[in-house]
Amino acid sequence: MNLIVLVYFFVMDSLKDIIATLTSMNTIMSRVNVGNDAILLSIQNNIQQYIAENCHHNIVYDYVDIPPEGGMSIKFCDICMKTF
Ligand SMILES: [Zn+2]
Repeated sequence: MNLIVLVYFFVMDSLKDIIATLTSMNTIMSRVNVGNDAILLSIQNNIQQYIAENCHHNIVYDYVDIPPEGGMSIKFCDICMKTF
């Protein structure tokens, strides 16, 4: 157990890794109905606040096909997935 914890910290030690992990956690939590559970809402808010305050956005551009209308270009951060 201790070995697993140590490996985790060595592998996931950059801020970019932390933000990417929190973004995944946020996506997973958005799939469940947390209802009015104060603790779960607090966890969700803390994750979103940490991402918003700490992500050093890496802006990328992509083009999304939306048939039959055509498509649109999008601009987003490939670390926290926020769109701009
Ligand atoms: Zn970002």
